[in-house]
Amino acid sequence: MPQPFSFDLLATDSASSARVGVMHTAHGDVQTPVFMPVGTQATVKAMSPADLEVCGCSIILANTYHLHLRPGSDLVRDAGGLHRFERWNHPILTDSGGFQVFSLKDISKASDEGVQFQSHIDGSRHFFSPESVMEIQHNLGADIIMAFDECPPSNAPADKVKKAVDRTLGWARRCVEAHARTPLQHGYGQALFPVVQGGTVLELREACARELTSLDLPGYAVGGCAVGESNEVMYSVVEHTAKHLPQGKPRYLMGVGMPQDIIECIARGIDMFDCVLPTRDGRTGTAYTWAGKVQIRNACHRRDFDTPLDPACTCYCCANFGRAYLRHLYVAGEILGMHMLTLHNIHFFMDLVRQAGQRIGDGTFGAWKREVLAKLGPVKKRDSAEAAE
Ligand SMILES: [Zn+2]
Repeated sequence: MPQPFSFDLLATDSASSARVGVMHTAHGDVQTPVFMPVGTQATVKAMSPADLEVCGCSIILANTYHLHLRPGSDLVRDAGGLHRFERWNHPILTDSGGFQVFSLKDISKASDEGVQFQSHIDGSRHFFSPESVMEIQHNLGADIIMAFDECPPSNAPADKVKKAVDRTLGWARRCVEAHARTPLQHGYGQALFPVVQGGTVLELREACARELTSLDLPGYAVGGCAVGESNEVMYSVVEHTAKHLPQGKPRYLMGVGMPQDIIECIARGIDMFDCVLPTRDGRTGTAYTWAGKVQIRNACHRRDFDTPLDPACTCYCCANFGRAYLRHLYVAGEILGMHMLTLHNIHFFMDLVRQAGQRIGDGTFGAWKREVLAKLGPVKKRDSAEAAE
């Protein structure tokens, strides 16, 4: 029988809250800190499973909302679960769909029972409740599944945020009950993580974290960050929330973010990250490098035949192609251009968290953080969090 989910905290930084650990799942171990590429429709766009392995990816995401609508979670269950369906024999995490259905403002209606919504594909009517979201995620069979939560808009007044926290807590309890009474669907356990909400109200974040901690679940997520608040506010929310989560459990910051955010939040005690930036930006011509972002469409790259996207990168793209060729592929709308920039970006994000982990382990994280942040420059614009693609 495969081992149930567990987490070992291996080292902590003496000068910050940064940590190194390892999650054990039925589909293998995941070293933390970790970045999880987003595979919305059971595929990380423009990447094969072999590409992901070459980049060092150990765990990927899939989106419950999208897979429920198409192809349907019962079909994925009948295929043997997501791992067999998409031929990714490593850990997978599915979100709860909460972020998506609450984003469908005009075509959804929420109550304490759940959320009624219309499909963005064909307008068909659906209902998500804590129980149905558990059933869908059981069908999908990810190693880590998320409790249904309400993510209020960034500009919501405090009383709305409080209501969202109360609802999120009630729904988390219902998810725990539904999860506990369901027999194993695929022969291995699925670890249920609840989501701390509370907007930018630190007291609510703390209260939500405390309540969820009392449920004694295998890991905890922080949701509702990077939805429009400033960097400083987001970092203080993350710092304050992480402090009130158990030391010995993994902490997942949903939908964040820019490389600078990842480094800052590792320093504040976060272990797991996901974001659509490396894939989405890769397809639209933006590369992330150790010297900051590169816009490949810029004319300055037109005759630059030999410089790779990032001289410090060892990915296939950087080992083989110069910027002039990559710019040509982008301008011509060639698929290889999107594939190469995505591959490079994923490789860069994986390298970033791997280096952070090594530096925490050898006690030089603080110096490394200062040096890398100086090279990357400040975060200018941040996309909304937890987006699917
Ligand atoms: Zn590269």
